[in-house]
Parts: sequence; C-alpha cells; structure tokens
Amino acid sequence: MRRNRRVKILATLGPSSSDPETIEKLHRAGADVFRINMSHTDHALLNTLVERIRTVEANVGRPIGILADLQGPKLRVGTFADGPVMLEKGARFILDSDPAPGDVTRVHLPHREILQALKPGHRLLLDDGKIRLLVREASETRADCVVDVGGKLSNKKGVSVPDTEIPVGALTTKDRKDLDAALAANVDWIALSFIQRPDDLADVRKVTRGRAGVMAKIEKPQAIERLPEILELSDALMVARGDLGVEMPLERVPGLQKQITRAARRAGKPVVVATQMLESMINAPVPTRAEVSDVATAVYEGADAVMLSAESAAGDYPVDAVETMDRIAHEVERDPNYRMIIHAQRPEPEPTGADAISAAARQIAETLSLAAVVCYTSSGATGLRASRERPSVPVIALSPVVGTARRLSIAWGLHCVVSDDAKSEDDMVDRACRISFSESFAKPGQRIIITAGVPFGTPGSTNMLRIAFVGSDGRGGI
Ligand code: PGA
Ligand code: MN
Repeated sequence: MRRNRRVKILATLGPSSSDPETIEKLHRAGADVFRINMSHTDHALLNTLVERIRTVEANVGRPIGILADLQGPKLRVGTFADGPVMLEKGARFILDSDPAPGDVTRVHLPHREILQALKPGHRLLLDDGKIRLLVREASETRADCVVDVGGKLSNKKGVSVPDTEIPVGALTTKDRKDLDAALAANVDWIALSFIQRPDDLADVRKVTRGRAGVMAKIEKPQAIERLPEILELSDALMVARGDLGVEMPLERVPGLQKQITRAARRAGKPVVVATQMLESMINAPVPTRAEVSDVATAVYEGADAVMLSAESAAGDYPVDAVETMDRIAHEVERDPNYRMIIHAQRPEPEPTGADAISAAARQIAETLSLAAVVCYTSSGATGLRASRERPSVPVIALSPVVGTARRLSIAWGLHCVVSDDAKSEDDMVDRACRISFSESFAKPGQRIIITAGVPFGTPGSTNMLRIAFVGSDGRGGI
C-alpha cells in the first residue's frame, strides 16, 4: 500500500478507537503513527494497544510508528468539601499545602515545590485558562491570591503557572514508570510534556539511550525561550497547542506554530502540529471551515505531521476524522501554490556528505522528473536529511532495521520499507528498482535516483548517487 500524501497523520488511540478493527481502519484511512496518551493508559492497556498495532502492521505489510506520550508535571488542585465553588472576580482565594478539602476561600495545591516557587505577581491559570488568579503574597506553604477572572472551580482541575519556572524535571515518578513500560513495549517515539529546560531532555536521553526517538512537546513559555538548545537535544518537536494556548496568549499560538515548525525543518527534525485540529469532529461528521483551514495551514507550512487527539481517541467519528485530514492534505499538496510555499522555507544543505548527496539527489530527480528518490538509511539519519529537502518526487527510505522504518514513518514524505542492506552496487540498483516497482512508485522504463553509502553496511557513510532505469520486470537496468 502506498499513500499519495507527503504530510503524515498521527492518530491518538482511546476508548473510541482501541479495538483491533478500528485501529486497522484508522491506519487504512491514513493514520501513519499512533499516539498512546499515558495520562489515560495503564501499562496493561499500553501493551495491548502496542500488540494490536503490531498485528495491523503485519496485516497491511507497512511499518507503523507508535508514540507514547508521557503526562509530565501536569498540576492539579485538590478537592472541595461540598462540590464546585464559584470564584468571584476580586475575591481572595488561597492555595495551600493543607490536604483538607477546600471551599470558596481556599483549596489544596498538592505540589509543594510549586508553592515554594510562586512569587507575588505570578499568574495561575485554572481549568484550561478559564479562571485566572494573581498571587499577592507567597510563602513556602501557601499562596494568597486575588481572583482576576472568576468562574466555577471543581475537583482536580488543571493548574498552569506560565510565569513560574517549576523546579522539577520533566519526568515525574509516574512518567519514569511509564517510560520504562513504553521502552519495554518497544515503542518508536517518546513524547515529553511540559519540558522547560534542555536538561529535561538530557535526563530522558540517559534512560532511552537511543531505543526510542525523543519528541519535545513545546507547551511552556520557558521552552520557547530556549528552543534552539531544546531542539538540539530532541529528535522531534510537537507544537502542543492545547497547553501552549493556556500558558501563552492564544493569539500568539499561530506565530509560534510557524516559528517552531521552521526551526524544526531547518534542523531536519520531524515536527508535529497538534491539538484541536478537527475538534468539532468529536461530535460531528464534518469539520468547520476554520478547522479545515487550520489543517491546511500546517500542511502548507511543511510540517511533518498533523495530529488528532480526542477526535480519534474519544470522539464519535474517529475514522471520518482521519479521512477528513487525509482529504485536506491531498488537496493542499495538489494546489499549484503548495510547492512554492514550502520551497520558500527550504534550508540550505549543511556541509556534510549526507546533505550534499541529499540535495543533489533532489535536484537531479526534479530536473529529470524521476519516479522516486530511493535512499538507503540504516540509522535513519540519511532518511531525515532526504526528507528535509522536501523533494517534489516521492522518497523511499530503505532500512534493514525495522525500528528505523517505524520511526521514520513520522517524517515528511518518506515511504519506509524494511530491506536488507545492499551487498554490492548491482544489488543496490536491483533492490532499489524492484522495491520502487513493487511499491507502485515506478513503472518499467522510468528512472529513479539512489543514494547509498559505500562500503555497504557501514552506517553514516552516505557518499554515492546513482541514476537507474527500472527494467521491464521491475529489475534494475542501466
Ligand atoms: P496533551 O498535549 O494532549 O497531552 O495535553 C497536547 C497539547 O497540550 O496540545
Ligand atoms: Mn499538553
């Protein structure tokens, strides 16, 4: 099965989509990578979902990526003695370290380190930003606040502290256990929530040790400030617009989305645009015009992937949501303006063999209208450099490592195939031609361009370009 789409689709699994039939339908409809949200998934369910995805993978014969998304230090208030309370503008409200149930004057904040870090003037945003408190006085055990924007507050609602650097790493005790379980289940990507510092990533990399790609979710102002260093230590980024839109003014999100997408493209690291892309499809079979336009914007910007959250996890129309995203992406990629727009952001090759070869392969493929660029990549590094070029012809990434093929399935434009390393130059040409033919990218008589590294089987050695004819039987010709 080949897709005629370059941008990838991530679909979150949840109650609406966890059975094997729906997972397969979602994949066939267009989901290239599945996201498992560890905020709502225990380890037994994680293992079940991974097993089901791997069964679908075997059924369809295509590598599928799996992303385990760690909850991170998501802050919540405690509970109230007599149900929800109404906070009125101008009233006093206290957050403290007392676990006793709260009332209209106070509530427990079960995060001592946050109470210690709050300073007068800091904002506290409760329940996705619906309620706003301003800290007036702060001590080690309590924050005395005034209600700036009022509303109804109920048990365990989320708390954001955009002005406060949280003095904890991005991995909570729960995250650490979830991380071990996800690595044991052999997932391909780990996403980290609420990262603030490059150190947060360094800590996680010490645990993952290359067993999974590390994706930094950009959803805190502190992460925006240190984006270059964070990008350096990440394998991919997510524009996590849900929490980003709480922690930052909403109207800044579109600009930040562009800034983050462009930074990731420049670095040649996959970038995912996430949250509320087709939100109304949670309850409706068709999206709003604004949502269609939002998905299209991410595709025009050259993002690697667009993501569905509740739409596929908990909505009434999970498969329709994927189909809708797929249709929007197809239409954008057919638009004559599309190439011009994504080319405008094409970064220059860096002075490495892999980049020089990838840029030349794209140039030659486009000049000669070749059927495909075929790149041999065992670690996936060369595959990502080929994707970074955003070529107008399809890219087939061949890897002998199934984990590489799965991980690269998130990257823009890569059709990943598991295949042994080439043994000789003839084998390299023959294998690339046969796969281009059998995967329906090239017809007999068409030409492809191949990038590889000699000596064969040595990772990190991409140094060769070869144009080849696909022969009448799909085998490689001169
Ligand atoms: P979440 O992350 O769904 O885990 O909150 C995405 C976002 O914040 O946009
Ligand atoms: Mn989030």
